[in-house]
Amino acid sequence: ASAQFRHGEPTVVEVEGRRIGGDHFAVIAGPCTVESRETMLEAARAMRDAGAHLLRGGAYKPRTSPYSFQGLGEAGLALLREAKEETGLPIVTEVMDVRDVERVVEVADVVQLGARNMQNYNLLTEVGRAGKPVLLKRGLAATLDELLMAAEYVLKEGNPNVILCERGIRTFESSYRFTLDIMAVPVLKELTHLPVIVDPSHAAGRRSLVEPLSLAAAAAGADGLIVEVHPNPDAAVCDGPQQLRAETFAEYLKRVEQAAELA
Ligand code: PEP
Ligand code: MN
Repeated sequence: ASAQFRHGEPTVVEVEGRRIGGDHFAVIAGPCTVESRETMLEAARAMRDAGAHLLRGGAYKPRTSPYSFQGLGEAGLALLREAKEETGLPIVTEVMDVRDVERVVEVADVVQLGARNMQNYNLLTEVGRAGKPVLLKRGLAATLDELLMAAEYVLKEGNPNVILCERGIRTFESSYRFTLDIMAVPVLKELTHLPVIVDPSHAAGRRSLVEPLSLAAAAAGADGLIVEVHPNPDAAVCDGPQQLRAETFAEYLKRVEQAAELA
């Protein structure tokens, strides 16, 4: 993952004609979770119409409480496949368990490894072997060196397409959900050739903070964003308070892309 690798050439991850890294800024957008056919397809159409580059949605959800909605699993994967067929947007979705890797990679164009699994080394290895591009989120209390070592588990399987994601870390501050470590962006860019994106949604935990954090990330040189957007966040099954309203997304995207031009 070292920046010195390949004489400092940045890695550009290409996913069905969309590029992330180098000079290419990409926005991955969509609901937190796949919750129904209707909302997933509505969200997917809205993301396509607004100009998102890739579509997100979790079929397997890492929830703090085991009594919370855990995702639709295979049924959710089928709905993601349908959303892609209809909109042409490539799919970014999380895998949490080595037993699900095979079925997730059948649908995912980018396999997401969540913050809670950043150091699940067997999962990193299995996903690395599967060969699809990987979105690796920084652990809640992981250093940047630990993040880069986790990326090595994927790279060492011969899979060069790893996208790193800063999504907020645990600090003493309790007036918001996590502290977005904006400094991670330029520091990772010094340390590694891999693309670095930011998740403002899970850092913030609330909608009003998502755009300021997105603008900061873009201006700081991030290669993209992964952001939660829902057609009706007030009725969302999870993470409603932080999901952008779909009808505001096109304008948000314009402003964020302008900020990325500054970097
Ligand atoms: C997510 O992106 O759906 C998610 C659960 O994020 P994180 O792993 O960063 O908490
Ligand atoms: Mn979420």
